[in-house]
Amino acid sequence: MNHSENFFSQAQKVIPGGVNSPVRAFNGVGGTPVFIDRAEGAYIFDADGKQYIDYVGSWGPMILGHNHPAILSAVLKTAEKGLSFGAPTPLEIDLAELVCQLVPSIEMVRMVSSGTEATMSAIRLTRGYTKRDKIIKFEGCYHGHSDSLLVKAGSGALTLGQPSSPGVPADFAKHTLTCEYNNIESVKQTFEQYPDDIACVIIEPVAGNMNCIPPKAGFLQQLRELCDQYGALLIIDEVMTGFRVALGGAQQYYGVTPDLTTLGKVIGGGMPVGAFGGKKEIMQYIAPTGPVYQAGTLSGNPIAMAAGLACLTELKKAGNEQRLAEQTEKLALGLKALADKHGIPFVVNYVGGMFGIFFTDQPEVSSYQQVMKCDAEKFKQFFHKMLEQGVYLAPSAYEAGFMSLAHSDEDIERTLQAADKAFAEMK
Ligand code: PLP
Repeated sequence: MNHSENFFSQAQKVIPGGVNSPVRAFNGVGGTPVFIDRAEGAYIFDADGKQYIDYVGSWGPMILGHNHPAILSAVLKTAEKGLSFGAPTPLEIDLAELVCQLVPSIEMVRMVSSGTEATMSAIRLTRGYTKRDKIIKFEGCYHGHSDSLLVKAGSGALTLGQPSSPGVPADFAKHTLTCEYNNIESVKQTFEQYPDDIACVIIEPVAGNMNCIPPKAGFLQQLRELCDQYGALLIIDEVMTGFRVALGGAQQYYGVTPDLTTLGKVIGGGMPVGAFGGKKEIMQYIAPTGPVYQAGTLSGNPIAMAAGLACLTELKKAGNEQRLAEQTEKLALGLKALADKHGIPFVVNYVGGMFGIFFTDQPEVSSYQQVMKCDAEKFKQFFHKMLEQGVYLAPSAYEAGFMSLAHSDEDIERTLQAADKAFAEMK
């Protein structure tokens, strides 16, 4: 037994499934999860000291790479002054101003401690503001695990075959209407059915919780138009895509303006931070300026704010956005070329600093149905062959991969060599 196997059997006795978030348990790929000891730059090191090139990046936040000196020193310096006050601090203003500057549709922003809190609060706000109860989400999209949103969800819920969870009262779930991603007709029909009842449409602008599905040309714009036509608000959930698809998020990349945006992951630089923000008039509808209640003991935590601020300050330096996209493209095109060389039916999607691989002979993968037709067994084989060779991919066929600024050309080359061998063995 190696250390990870030992830890896993110990953990399973006191933590359900041995993990504090389901996909970490490797249910999607089988085998024992790797227990991590430390991380540096593009690498994580397991409890046995083995090094892996990491394309998970803590599920997105580690966009600068692990243990970045700017974030580390901001965290240490801030911690010396106290861990939490439950009272306002200037750091919160600094991060809020930077977020508003980077994402112009955000005029005001409220910090929370996770993406789940961000989307849950944003949904409540749209319901309070519009005085309507129903919401539209898309099958295969994941927006955290609050009751209204755990309906036909992606991510771990999809990996574990639990897209709609027991424990969500039917009386709540009935207000969540689900449409097909990249199918505007399905949204039109839903609005026609409930013209006066829909508070908001919430969408992942690039669906990263059913692997990586970019929006079809015009899809997000058409959503915006339908929302305007029916008096519903548009929430673009940029928890995953924010600062990653582009500095101004996927909304900047695709040129669509939401009413509200939700953020998480990168905004905290590795500390627990989420945020929701948007039009001033709507944001002022939350307490204490408005009637919709929302709060948090650790919201705006100084160490978390300092980490987020350091992360975004570093990320926005000239050339970084472009480099992240270029490295992602290099990896994506490299994988595709190798799969072709070995005659393995394969599709790769990528945008900005995220990518997704699919084992399939379909010409493209742009819908939930197409994702579900891909060969998850082949993915499992590939995953383990890469893991053996020191490449850590997301342990599920339904999760996006993440590039960081720490990934060098050499790291990508090593990844491609590993893939070459993996594909050769899979033929
Ligand atoms: N929204 C999106 C698009 C996400 O990808 C996630 C998490 O993966 C969430 C919301 C929930 O964020 P958290 O896990 O921080 O609660």
